[in-house]
Amino acid sequence: MSVLWTETDLTHATGGSFPCAMPIKGTGISIDTRTIEKGDIFIAIIGENSDGHAHIQKALEAGAACAIASNPIAGLPENAPVLYVKDTLQALTDMGRYARHRFTGKVIAITGSVGKTTTKEMLKTTLSAFGTVHAAAGSHNNHLGVPLTLARLPINTNFCVCEIGMNHIGEIAPLAELVSPHIAIITEVASSHLGYMQNLDNIAKEKSQIITALPVQGVALVPESIYGLEIFKETAKQQQVHLQTVGTTSAASIQISDIHLGAQKSAFQATINKQHLTFSLSSPGGHLVRNAGLVIGAINALGVDIQHAISALASFQTGNGRGKILPLQEQNGLVLDESYNASTLSIRTALQTLSLLAPARKIVVLGDIMELGEYSEQEHLSLLPNITSNADLVFCCGSMMKIVFEQLPPPLQGAWCASAQELIPLIQSILQDNDTLLVKGSNSMRMSAIVTTLTAPA
Ligand code: ATP
Ligand code: MG
Repeated sequence: MSVLWTETDLTHATGGSFPCAMPIKGTGISIDTRTIEKGDIFIAIIGENSDGHAHIQKALEAGAACAIASNPIAGLPENAPVLYVKDTLQALTDMGRYARHRFTGKVIAITGSVGKTTTKEMLKTTLSAFGTVHAAAGSHNNHLGVPLTLARLPINTNFCVCEIGMNHIGEIAPLAELVSPHIAIITEVASSHLGYMQNLDNIAKEKSQIITALPVQGVALVPESIYGLEIFKETAKQQQVHLQTVGTTSAASIQISDIHLGAQKSAFQATINKQHLTFSLSSPGGHLVRNAGLVIGAINALGVDIQHAISALASFQTGNGRGKILPLQEQNGLVLDESYNASTLSIRTALQTLSLLAPARKIVVLGDIMELGEYSEQEHLSLLPNITSNADLVFCCGSMMKIVFEQLPPPLQGAWCASAQELIPLIQSILQDNDTLLVKGSNSMRMSAIVTTLTAPA
């Protein structure tokens, strides 16, 4: 494994110091000893519920190349490899900045109310046809995840794909500035985190901060139908950035046409610079075609031969909890696993994908959507028409989904329970061959327990 961080890099990046001179060869970064690997640099982050300083000894025993601490650690030998800094979170951010500045490849940043991780994974898969790619792990997109992604960026990689998230005003700008992307993608503006953000205009303005981090003549990509297009156009104009739209009308910079949505895959045409190209995707769902359009736009903005993207894009697979299709364990049937998270828009999208699968019986299992604050009831209830037109039987859990459940036509009412766990035996008792289930809810509703119990081991 190649060396990412030496003692010189670390002291230059953070301004910290080692108690005595020592050579360091860090090959990775860790902030969690449960997943630490030999050669990692362990940064002792002080969190709300835990303090990484308590785990430094364990990190060094596990083979960490060194630890980064702000407080003295009792019981460590004097020559233990510890870099002392004022503030460990700041040190992580400083390391992210240092790694970004020494990187000479292309950086693409993705934000949006839904679809960040899916689009990031799709772009990562597609870019691998053009060179080596470093991308954020999972949904690493906040004040910890973004600098971690950058601090782990190998110097000699060709592309870096970062995800930038937010649930409060003011969070995107500093992260986008840290990432300093060449290309930015905004996937969607929707009601996620509305409880904190109050209205869609605030959400669009917040997302537009990713454009302000682009260089002059940089490229920002948005769906042509995105809420707040005017806000993005205005920001792009002020920043002298090219705003490119992706959509189905002739006004779109990247035009998507001839869309065929199937139960197992999709196909579509993209017209870019008067070139017509046919693409296919090996997972179902109209949202994946929309995300793919943005990915194609980003590849095009890199100035490489877009033809090479065709087969790489076709090999993209949806991830666990984000649209993966799994077989039922006891019956002949399928689960559309959307258990990772939920927003109003992503539930609507998932219901459409469920219908595409053309099952004999569509069973919809929904848990509450979080962070909608005072808008929660109206946002949950807005799903009623989508649910009634796409489901044959509905199971719900959580206090908000109870309100939805009670308004469903009685033939659609399967059962409501307080928790996902309680729903499991009730769902199991009614399953038949050829059923297809959609399972979706916010992460804290633990809907994945339903998927794990009902599906065969991979
Ligand atoms: P989080 O902020 O929770 O990490 P995210 O923005 O990374 O979310 P994904 O994990 O990519 O979003 O997608 C979450 C779900 O949203 C998917 O499982 C899918 O149902 C839906 N989704 C993905 N892309 C889109 C899209 N472009 N439009 C609407 N829904 C989408
Ligand atoms: Mg994500």
